[in-house]
Amino acid sequence: MAAATRVLQRAISPSLVVILGATGTGKSKLAIEIGKRLNGEIISADSMQVYKGLDIITNKVTEEEQAQCLHHMISFVDPLVSGYTVVDFRNKALSLIEDMHHRQKLPIIVGGTNYYIESLLWKVLINPGGSESEKGVASESKTELEKLGGPELHRWLKEVDPDMAAILHPHDARKIARSLQVFMDTGVPHSRLLEEQRGQDGGGCLGGPLRFQNPCIFWLHCKTNALDERLDKRVDQMLSLGLIDELKDFHQRFNEKMIKENSQDYQHGIFQSIGFKEFHEYLTASENISQEERDKLKIKGIESLKQVTRRYARKQNKWVRNRFLKRPASNVPPVYGLDVTDVTNWETTVLTPALEILDCLQKGEQPSAQPIRAEGLEPRNKRSHHMCDLCDKVIIGDLEWTAHQKSKNHLYQVRKRRKAKQASDQGPNATEHQNDSDRQVPVL
Ligand SMILES: [Zn+2]
Repeated sequence: MAAATRVLQRAISPSLVVILGATGTGKSKLAIEIGKRLNGEIISADSMQVYKGLDIITNKVTEEEQAQCLHHMISFVDPLVSGYTVVDFRNKALSLIEDMHHRQKLPIIVGGTNYYIESLLWKVLINPGGSESEKGVASESKTELEKLGGPELHRWLKEVDPDMAAILHPHDARKIARSLQVFMDTGVPHSRLLEEQRGQDGGGCLGGPLRFQNPCIFWLHCKTNALDERLDKRVDQMLSLGLIDELKDFHQRFNEKMIKENSQDYQHGIFQSIGFKEFHEYLTASENISQEERDKLKIKGIESLKQVTRRYARKQNKWVRNRFLKRPASNVPPVYGLDVTDVTNWETTVLTPALEILDCLQKGEQPSAQPIRAEGLEPRNKRSHHMCDLCDKVIIGDLEWTAHQKSKNHLYQVRKRRKAKQASDQGPNATEHQNDSDRQVPVL
């Protein structure tokens, strides 16, 4: 079965299409047009769209759009379920993709949520809750893991989360086991979760080899001013579609009760959707406040919604730059950029080039459009890993490493080591040579 899938995968080029881009760049539209023409089906890779409800704020495709091309992974999780993870998403989406390949359909991934897309593109080596043999590993407790010892755990962590491994000392079994466990529980490398929490993106290398050979990746990008303008318009459009009623209704059905039970929190499930917490004050305002005050809260909500939408769009683009463009490696597929700044001739400037690229890839030819080149590679690596054996210390970052090598403590260790070495190599006269370099051949 697995072999058959592999053969099939090789036969299909591209194996799948991935459409990246910030909110408001027209990803869904492009996906639908490609799907209609190339016998495709669409998978939404968006952590909020999996939930039922909040259709407007989470930018779900409309029923008319869904009628034009089959969409998957939208509106099937109960909003009160908060334990839906990227692993659940990945497992379901992968079996959908496999099924599409069997049916000779082209899978089109539209995203979305960064690590949802990553989970489909790259294979990480441990599979939490996966096959039987791996389940055994996943259920091991942290204390059990710690018994394996730091160095062994560290080698393991290096495979699944090289970024985290790089900043943990190989002897720190406790912390390494903790990171491994986070990975096994969530399917997301611990370092990625921390990055997400810090609202940052970028950093270290991608885990694992590509899951599917020859994916075709499009990135819809746009000049910042044009994008900001479009995002503002998008929010206004959401408002005219009935955003406020949607939020009120959702609040009444689910959130109010949770607030009363004191179990409401905006950290889980669909409640963390953009827009929902921005209107918290408005939605929970007392009955007794004046209309004027109520309107003020509403305007405040709209303004902060516009702000977070812009911020989120920047974050999405930054992720594409950091994850795909800045680090050419064998496991980073080429990305074809499509400029959507001016969409007055969308068919000519966006759709046609995309179809031409796909046509070439299907024929096994090189498209005339070039993938986007890595832009300004970082001159130094802020997260490189250096182990100073002399000081028994792990140093992170090129600059820090240079600084460490010049530091008093390190130089003291160098002198100490040299003295000791010379003493053992040459006997009591060793101190005469203490200013010589380490490379000096001992006098015989
Ligand atoms: Zn040192």
